[in-house]
Amino acid sequence: MTTTAQVPADSVPPAVRLEEARRDYADLLGQGLKLDLTRGKPSARQLDLAADLLSLPGDRYTAADGTDCRNYGSPDGLRELRDIFSGFLQAPVDQLLAVGNSSLELMHDCLIHALLGTLPGAERRWADEERIAFLCPVPGYDRHFALCERYGIDMIPVPMTDAGPDLGEVERLVAADPAIKGIWCVPKYSNPDGTCYSDEVVRGLASMRTAAPDFRIFWDNAYAVHHLTDEEPEVADVLAACAEAGNPDRAFVFGSTSKITLAGAGVAFFGSSPANIAWLRGRSAKRSIGPDKINQLRHALFLRDADGVRAHMRKHRAVLRPKFDAVLRGFAEALGDTGLATWSTPKGGYFIVLNVPDGCAGEVVRRAKEAGIALTPAGATHPYGQDPKDSVIRISPSYPDLEEVEQIIRGVATCVRLVGYEKLVA
Ligand code: PLP
Repeated sequence: MTTTAQVPADSVPPAVRLEEARRDYADLLGQGLKLDLTRGKPSARQLDLAADLLSLPGDRYTAADGTDCRNYGSPDGLRELRDIFSGFLQAPVDQLLAVGNSSLELMHDCLIHALLGTLPGAERRWADEERIAFLCPVPGYDRHFALCERYGIDMIPVPMTDAGPDLGEVERLVAADPAIKGIWCVPKYSNPDGTCYSDEVVRGLASMRTAAPDFRIFWDNAYAVHHLTDEEPEVADVLAACAEAGNPDRAFVFGSTSKITLAGAGVAFFGSSPANIAWLRGRSAKRSIGPDKINQLRHALFLRDADGVRAHMRKHRAVLRPKFDAVLRGFAEALGDTGLATWSTPKGGYFIVLNVPDGCAGEVVRRAKEAGIALTPAGATHPYGQDPKDSVIRISPSYPDLEEVEQIIRGVATCVRLVGYEKLVA
């Protein structure tokens, strides 16, 4: 899970620390705060970076190939936009669709179509199986889990490691149980722990033996270009790895411009094998007479090419990085010598994971709420909203402004000290 801070144990008696924490918490209550750190949304300043989109495409409406973007048609989306994202999403342009504005909707649709239709390689519809299950690396993205819950798909948690989901555990589970039809993966700057999958994990997922012939990796590459440092790591190409391993239809790749341009008015992408592309194209044809190509055209004009995307993402980084630094600095200053917490230090993405002593996460979130600080509910990072250790809190610093982030983190650290010392002293 990226790097986790190492914290030395404190030498001052916990009872003394508890008194200090109680005083600080009383101060916090007295401040009458009303702050929100719940969702990983881009801030208005980030959305402003794409302000030019609002006046594009101007009076132009033809795509590079002459398509009239005002009309129905072009179910695969505009080629010039798919060209820009093909490299980032590691899907050949002919195996990449640009459709709709939300990758989560595409994930939802893929689940529905697999439930109600027959996937390439499947023996029957998933709805006709007695039981189906997905592997859920934890901590993970609550909306993935919500989709499973909505459609009665059992969730099996798998621990994350520094290199991605615990491969040995995944291999063991999928080899033994034909009801396991899929796994959720956020391969780069994972939500929420910031992990980037190692080449070994990608190859292992692509080549492992699965009892289900229609097993799918839901490869949610939501943070493919969302770097916070100069490092810009490349995760191995999952579609290529699956094809090489003789499992060409195993991976569904998802991505979007939601956190590149406008979160509510972006473009979503689906990349996969030719058979899976034909499958989704066929299913989607009943649902839509074509995507919003005017939006795709303005995105292509605004972003121009892959370097245009990179340049734009550097502007996001300039806004986001100080907020992430403020969180890491705030935790280090207030919690660094307490032994009460560790946290991830992500190199990209939107989240930081704060690990507090077992049994304390829910109480920290509750105390923060009493003090006017809304945090993501404890447990949201786990299937069914239940973190068995009650120790993980997801921090999303993107939306509030920098001063608010600093204030929030000081407050959260106070709550961690209060709850942590209360537990130690009890
Ligand atoms: N996938 C992950 C991992 C996310 O964190 C998010 C948003 O937070 C999404 C998908 C949502 O993507 P979209 O806006 O394309 O539906």
